[in-house]
Amino acid sequence: MNHGGRLRAAAMRSVFIPMSNIISLHAQTATASAYAFACTACGQCCNTPPLLTLDEALRFEAQFIITLGLRRVQPLRAGQPVEGVAADVADVAAQQALFEQLLYPAANGAALQIALLATDYPTRTCPALGGDGRCTLHTAGKPLACDVVPLDALQPDRLQHAVLASRSAGFARAACISPAAAGAGQLLIDGTQVTDVGYAHDLQRHRAALAADKTAWGNALHRLLTDALRDVALWARIPQAGFYQIPPVPLLALLAADPAYGPARCAQFVRAQLALIDAALAAALQRKQAADKPFTQQLRGMAEACRSLLPRLAA
Ligand code: SF4
Ligand code: SF4
Repeated sequence: MNHGGRLRAAAMRSVFIPMSNIISLHAQTATASAYAFACTACGQCCNTPPLLTLDEALRFEAQFIITLGLRRVQPLRAGQPVEGVAADVADVAAQQALFEQLLYPAANGAALQIALLATDYPTRTCPALGGDGRCTLHTAGKPLACDVVPLDALQPDRLQHAVLASRSAGFARAACISPAAAGAGQLLIDGTQVTDVGYAHDLQRHRAALAADKTAWGNALHRLLTDALRDVALWARIPQAGFYQIPPVPLLALLAADPAYGPARCAQFVRAQLALIDAALAAALQRKQAADKPFTQQLRGMAEACRSLLPRLAA
């Protein structure tokens, strides 16, 4: 097997982890189109680690175990009910424009999301969540994906009302999202507009960072994975809810060849990841919980993939 083939084989030793912060727009009874939001920093939405940009993945290499996540995204069709309202032509066009900017073409009209994911045992919360229920990365500049919560940068502004309708159920215990008519919190969404200036700005910042990542490494990685993704059996395993996760080996191969990063920076990243994985495995061994076993197996596979990369980065 050639060098690229070995990298792809290592990358495709994969795991599938559902993530509760994935939202999908779906049909249900009609909901409000104006929403207010009042965050009490209860930490409930920090039950899974966040999606990251490349800059964040490198910055937080000692905080998060990082994988590549693949997700199948089905675009809206005009007339399709979304949270009780039929999507119109403008909804479809806005979503299509955003998907072209941030996602990748895939089979049968679907789109493919390729994301950098922080990951941890499914039985645990985000590792950056402090014992006091607050984010320990707040002062270091927490990930952009966290800044935009409860919104979703992968949906256009005019569909954020559907994002909030979907998430209000998931955040029900926190009760931080409410129809504006209820009079609680600050108006965040009014129909097709994000009315909160700070959130509108953060959404744009997050989309710009994701688009920059797509240009910098996403398109090249998509090309690298294209052959593997033609495998019908593999494509069938890529979910819509959650991510099919693979070790970041093919991305590191790209970055190692990029003078902006190079092999030494990639080796530093791999060593930081191996230290985190070893610590996570040791902690799991102490916990002795049967529920940890599948993820322990996956972490061991990741460690093996990372270790096999180190000599090639040093060569
Ligand atoms: S669940 Fe709601 S109130 Fe709690 S931290 Fe998340 S956004 Fe804030
Ligand atoms: S990084 Fe901070 S804000 Fe983001 S999910 Fe983790 S604890 Fe929550």
